[in-house]
Amino acid sequence: MHIFAIANQKGGVGKTTTAVNLAAALAASGQRTLLVDLDPQGNATMGCGVEKRSLESSVYQVLLQLASLSDARVMSPSGRFDVLPANRDLAGAEVELVDLELREMRLKVALAAHQEDYDFVLIDCPPSLSMLTLNGLCAAHGVIIPMQCEYYALEGLSDLVNTIKKVHANLNRDLKIIGLLRVMYDPRNTLSTQVSAQLEQHFGDKVFKTLVPRNVRLAEAPSYGVPGVLFDKAAKGAQAYMAFAVEMIDRVNSWKEML
Ligand code: ADP
Ligand code: MG
Repeated sequence: MHIFAIANQKGGVGKTTTAVNLAAALAASGQRTLLVDLDPQGNATMGCGVEKRSLESSVYQVLLQLASLSDARVMSPSGRFDVLPANRDLAGAEVELVDLELREMRLKVALAAHQEDYDFVLIDCPPSLSMLTLNGLCAAHGVIIPMQCEYYALEGLSDLVNTIKKVHANLNRDLKIIGLLRVMYDPRNTLSTQVSAQLEQHFGDKVFKTLVPRNVRLAEAPSYGVPGVLFDKAAKGAQAYMAFAVEMIDRVNSWKEML
């Protein structure tokens, strides 16, 4: 089971779009997949077609150990993958976790009991470096960082990288940055292509080959509760996320060969 956190403390950079579409694309490629929504906004939950307002239990109850993962997970009505959903309740977890033992490890512990259930677990982190994101980073083997190719893209990246380094040093020796994913890419925009080339120069192999274009079908899909990759399979954005799933599967297979 490979666990990846999708993180960037900036909002609106494509974390949730990446989490939902990669989960659906992995599932469509035959991978047993769980998507964990760690954002109180519950956008990933809704984007998969799960109604966040009518949940009996959610990731909140799992973090506080009031429910098990088996009780709280639901099957996405739109694709063949599971979702550990979130809603506003989760906003309270931040405060309620503070005094609890092993507060950063709650998600890790919950997932450990389900090693055999999944090939991939994707964690959609909130736009902050909070206790929730910390739970995501402590549970994960790797981080996928979606980025827009704009002038300020690198600003703030150092905060995230420092946080990942600290978590690696103190809490989770397994954690590494898997890669930067360029999203909302516009090949007609010179700045976009320049920043993209700079990222490749600077970060080399840490930049995924797949480029996700700006594509309106990806932005429309959530309002139908269907991942973009299933909503309009022919759209450029959908095809990019299908290609990204193949790239991820190839990566984890290459790790296996190294062992
Ligand atoms: P985050 O989770 O980082 O806050 P989202 O995934 O919610 O970011 O994306 C922010 C907004 O941008 C959403 O309205 C989403 O539909 C839109 N969006 C994300 N990726 C793309 C894309 N490749 N093309 C067009 N719109 C996109
Ligand atoms: Mg989001």
